[in-house]
Amino acid sequence: MTDSDAFAAALDTIADPLSGKGLIESGRCAAPRVNAVDKVASVILDVTGLSGDDRAKVERAIRGKLIGLNGIRDVRIAMTAEKTARKLIAVGSGKGGVGKSTVAANLAVALKRLGVKVGLVDADIYGPSQARLMASEGKRPEAENQKLLPIATDFGVPMLSMAHLVKPGQAIAWRGPMAGNALGQLIDADWGEAEIIIVDLPPGTGDVQLSLIAKHKPAGAIIVSTPQDLALIDATRAIDLFNQATVPIIGIVENMAGYACPHCGEVSDPFGAGGAETAAQSLGVPFLGRIPLEIAIRKASDAGQPPAASGEAIAQPFLDIAGALMGWLNAKAVPTF
Ligand code: ADP
Repeated sequence: MTDSDAFAAALDTIADPLSGKGLIESGRCAAPRVNAVDKVASVILDVTGLSGDDRAKVERAIRGKLIGLNGIRDVRIAMTAEKTARKLIAVGSGKGGVGKSTVAANLAVALKRLGVKVGLVDADIYGPSQARLMASEGKRPEAENQKLLPIATDFGVPMLSMAHLVKPGQAIAWRGPMAGNALGQLIDADWGEAEIIIVDLPPGTGDVQLSLIAKHKPAGAIIVSTPQDLALIDATRAIDLFNQATVPIIGIVENMAGYACPHCGEVSDPFGAGGAETAAQSLGVPFLGRIPLEIAIRKASDAGQPPAASGEAIAQPFLDIAGALMGWLNAKAVPTF
């Protein structure tokens, strides 16, 4: 047996923390070599999916087993990681109060229900509401290797919000560069296996949106609008911003369309209906779907129970929009970050 073969055999006696198989058999380690002259061994360690702790344990185990074996003096471990093809999807609106945060949270939950590994970033740093919507208020993220660890939620969607970094009620009045840095920390967190990160942008077309687009190039943007004309004019401005930055518009979601009276069931249209669909047509962007104005949506949201997680009909429009988003992503080769 050569030194390198003995080295490989020894590596295979160490269990990969994820699969439980030997480090060589599992593919965790590759290319074990021993330099016959200086007796220094080298190996490639694929750290994909390993926590910082596991990584350190594996490294220790490798050194422990090998140093001294057939006179090996030292082990060089080269770490690699498979880069997850992770895509950012921005959810924006021209103005506040149209239900952008509600749509972003429920879109993430609906994607999870469709089997997508998804994370959620609340980039609405001036009015972060995702922690309430996802029932993670008061939690604090930890950091590992200089990266924030997203907070787990009851809905299988890890998330991070500025609300997790500042004290409740603390005013966030940051100017451009600081806001941009804060956002960078949320987006560059340790998102693990997440394939898609839904980013809830602040309303409008200010610094945070520009910073996100410039630094993190979303794969696409979803624009939320109510059916009224005024909201649609604002939505058109938001679309222009993404167009200028060559971020594709995935489509428009019409929110608060058609009010179903909880008493008699009669559907009325306090804000009109269909306005966003007509606007989408005239702007030449896809229409992704319509979410009704329902008291149950507001109540569930306030209670930290995203309606998309419910077994009721109320989840359906969100699941449909999530399906439309996946259709769009599958049809396109989009940039990853
Ligand atoms: P934005 O992020 O655009 O400012 P929010 O998502 O915070 O808006 O929504 C504003 C308010 O409207 C919240 O109280 C939310 O629960 C409520 N809301 C949003 N969408 C609906 C809907 N389809 N039906 C009923 N209430 C809604």
